[in-house]
Amino acid sequence: MAVKEGAKAEKKKVVVIGGGVGGSLVVKSLQFIAEVVLIDQKEYYEIPWAALRAMVEPSVAERSVIYHRDYFTHGQIVTSAAVDITESGVLTADGDLYSYDYLVIATGHDDPVPRDRGERLVHYEAEYDKIKSANSILIVGGGPTGVELAGELAVDFPEKKVTLVHRGSRLLEFISPKASKKTLDWLVSKKVEVILGQSVDLDTMSDGIYRTSGGETVRADCHFVCVGKPIGSSWLQQTFLKDSLDSQGRLMVDKHLRVKGRERAFAIGDITDIEEIKQGYAAHTHAEIAVKNLKLLMSGGRASKMSAYKPGPALAIVSLGRKEAVAQFPFMTAIGCFPGKIKSGDLFVGMTRKQLGLKPLSSKPKSPSTGK
Ligand SMILES: Cc1cc2nc3c(=O)[nH]c(=O)nc-3n(C[C@H](O)[C@H](O)[C@H](O)COP(=O)(O)OP(=O)(O)OC[C@H]3O[C@@H](n4cnc5c(N)ncnc54)[C@H](O)[C@@H]3O)c2cc1C
Repeated sequence: MAVKEGAKAEKKKVVVIGGGVGGSLVVKSLQFIAEVVLIDQKEYYEIPWAALRAMVEPSVAERSVIYHRDYFTHGQIVTSAAVDITESGVLTADGDLYSYDYLVIATGHDDPVPRDRGERLVHYEAEYDKIKSANSILIVGGGPTGVELAGELAVDFPEKKVTLVHRGSRLLEFISPKASKKTLDWLVSKKVEVILGQSVDLDTMSDGIYRTSGGETVRADCHFVCVGKPIGSSWLQQTFLKDSLDSQGRLMVDKHLRVKGRERAFAIGDITDIEEIKQGYAAHTHAEIAVKNLKLLMSGGRASKMSAYKPGPALAIVSLGRKEAVAQFPFMTAIGCFPGKIKSGDLFVGMTRKQLGLKPLSSKPKSPSTGK
């Protein structure tokens, strides 16, 4: 059921809130067949799985932090946070109202990052300088972000003392205990000190000495907080969708990815209540299904013909430096160069850029010591 390109009068208005992994794919896919408005609090899309590499090699951010305008050439970009939604429009923090025929909510997780791309690149340079000038580094949090950062530091800066403190009883609790144990062994083999089952009170830090809840002290020149981010739905709590949030603040969706009970509002990505590991590849698949369903509805197709989303098998790869990784495949876990070959070299940056219709650009790593 094709929607005519260029038939401006017939075009429906689609407002997409959130230009992350899911939202960026939706706007790119619909830009020529609908009047699309992207509302994002920042002017760029950032490839999340390259963020830790960008801390040890800031030039990576030149490829992974992408202006929305570079891939979304035919629609309106609103750089402001959405603060309210009604049955027919979205209100932004700047006080503007955008009406819609269809809505896609893709606000993922709350992550307070700079609004401007230039500032984001400066931020990575500053993180890099902080790492370079420290002899000892504390990482708080042993989820994927803390573990990936520990891996990057252990491989690129083996002379630095890295300590990772994690509140949970094992690293990477979202994958199997076997994979957690392999990850712990890998980090220990790289001389990372891992303290499990304890938290750090950052407010009591003085003169580079941090105290843990178990009474231990950690000496570090700087620290990075890598704890899980809250779901990006607090702004929905006073809106007409407030009753569509579950007890964890996730938007409840039906099998077609429409917000339950709403005919014109879809939700995709990490914000949904779908029981699966929250991963970018799932957000991508949600985006593809939502696009398919929106195309059908916009061309007058019957809602009963919409495609359904079925969660796939559990799959996750956490990189451990530039060559190795730990992977959770459906029936097994693996660690080392085999999963590393899949992710850790280019961290899917070239592939993700290609999906957005952009040139992959060079992925030649720079030496952390010479920068060349
Ligand atoms: C370190 C790390 C490594 C990862 N590695 C992988 C991996 O290798 N493979 C994989 O598949 N997944 C990986 N993930 C998970 C993946 O990044 C997420 O599942 C994915 O980003 C979710 O996509 P999303 O579109 O739901 O939300 P996001 O990508 O989080 O995008 C949300 C967007 O919404 C915007 N936003 C938020 N609130 C508002 C508001 N009120 N108004 C306007 N805009 C708003 C934000 O600015 C952002 O642009 C990793 C995550 C991390 C942190």
